[in-house]
Amino acid sequence: MQALRLLAPQQAELQEAPKPRPDRDEVLVRLVCAGICGTDLEIFNGAFPSRPPVTMGHEYAGVVAEVGDAVSNISVGTRVVSPGGWPCGQCHTCLRGDAQHCEDRRVLGSSVNGVFAEYFAVPAKILLQVPEGVDFDEAQSALSLAVCLRALSRIPRSYSRNVALLGSGHLALLMLQLLRRTLGGNVTLFGTDSDQIEIGRELGAPETVDARLPFEDRAGSFDVVIDCAGKAESLRQAVDLAAIGGTLLIAGVADNLTDGLRPSVLYHKELTILGSRGALGHYAEAVRLIDNGTVFVKPLISHRFSLHRADSALHAALNPTPGTVRIVIENELEASQDGSHAKER
Ligand SMILES: [Zn+2]
Ligand SMILES: [Zn+2]
Repeated sequence: MQALRLLAPQQAELQEAPKPRPDRDEVLVRLVCAGICGTDLEIFNGAFPSRPPVTMGHEYAGVVAEVGDAVSNISVGTRVVSPGGWPCGQCHTCLRGDAQHCEDRRVLGSSVNGVFAEYFAVPAKILLQVPEGVDFDEAQSALSLAVCLRALSRIPRSYSRNVALLGSGHLALLMLQLLRRTLGGNVTLFGTDSDQIEIGRELGAPETVDARLPFEDRAGSFDVVIDCAGKAESLRQAVDLAAIGGTLLIAGVADNLTDGLRPSVLYHKELTILGSRGALGHYAEAVRLIDNGTVFVKPLISHRFSLHRADSALHAALNPTPGTVRIVIENELEASQDGSHAKER
């Protein structure tokens, strides 16, 4: 079978790989489609830990193709998604009940073989069944949406009156839809790509700002600033935009140093800074919000590549042209078998 393999940092290749065999408590999933997320790019660049050689990818929708001997909760043919990783269950942190911070977390596409392949094996216990009304194109974004839900759960509700959202990519445009639901008009999207900003407007962003232009006049005017951009300068921008007593939520991953951040501003504004990693416990809600039409995924899919061009898909994600939001990799063997009916949206 074909798989996109990370051989070393910044070196990935489409290769023939053996079809995995599921262990007793695992299932073999046949990929239908996968999405490339920012974390895949961090893994490729070496900014996020990984154990190459390893098959890349962690966000997907697929069909159960085979089940291990000890698996009884799920059957062949079930349409599934799953978290991108799972706790080891045995380390000190897991044993004290804090699986979110597991010291030996198994992560698809970084520490164990991932989903940019025709087939991949995952523990049966982590799978979620995709409901009838959600198609594979929608389901492949469930994990990113769960990441947004987990991030928002970090902010005390009463604080979220007036929110600035930094970034206009896939994560930000999912987050925007969640914020619209709870806050109505009090969300401002700061983007750096006109096409992405336009999608944000179509998805109901009440106010948008082109963050490539000066926006000093907005400094100090937001109770909550959410950084989905994951750029070094966005943390500085977030600190500038936050009001006195405001909260910063760091939902994007930037691994480079931040210039121009004046620490005394944190002191004078008495800012609260929250980080959010992963999505533990929010997957089922994410699938439900796609199913009930709260969140639209399809307008975010900007590019499609078949699995045998997964290396080109990765290249497109690493070198985005204007308007690039979600790049989807399709297993061409499966595309024609997608018999589900997406809701008209
Ligand atoms: Zn991801
Ligand atoms: Zn653990």
